[in-house]
Amino acid sequence: MSNVECIFCKITKKEVPADIVFEDDTLMVFKDIHPSAPIHDLVVPKEHIQSIASLEGNHRDILAHMIYTAKEVAAKAGLKGYKLVFNVGRDGGQVIDHLHLHILGGWHPVKDKTAIDAMPHPRHDPRT
Ligand code: AMP
Ligand code: ZN
Repeated sequence: MSNVECIFCKITKKEVPADIVFEDDTLMVFKDIHPSAPIHDLVVPKEHIQSIASLEGNHRDILAHMIYTAKEVAAKAGLKGYKLVFNVGRDGGQVIDHLHLHILGGWHPVKDKTAIDAMPHPRHDPRT
């Protein structure tokens, strides 16, 4: 099940090139084209699922597999710590409507402390 217009479907079908880090029957990991961190990979299922918000019960296994693969890829890249991020919907910053898990890491432990401590969004001030 894929969507002919979807860029991530095209990448997983190898119709569009990407810097592939890992691939198996159900998913692909490739480098983000506009990295937001020294290491920024995307874990992408081969099935066209729109987002976390459109998950159904039968997607539980693929979701677990995505997270487990992220851990394996991060370990292989030598990352001791990293962030795993799902943007969900336009209001959550999702631009590509094909489910993907961001792996972000590789920062310098001292020089990049601000990036390491940051949430992926400015902290909300409940007083405002
Ligand atoms: P999101 O905002 O969660 O939908 O993230 C989409 C991500 O996909 C962004 O970080 C983009 O830089 C990345 N991206 C878009 N097109 C490509 C592409 N052709 N190859 C690799 N990464 C891409
Ligand atoms: Zn797709």
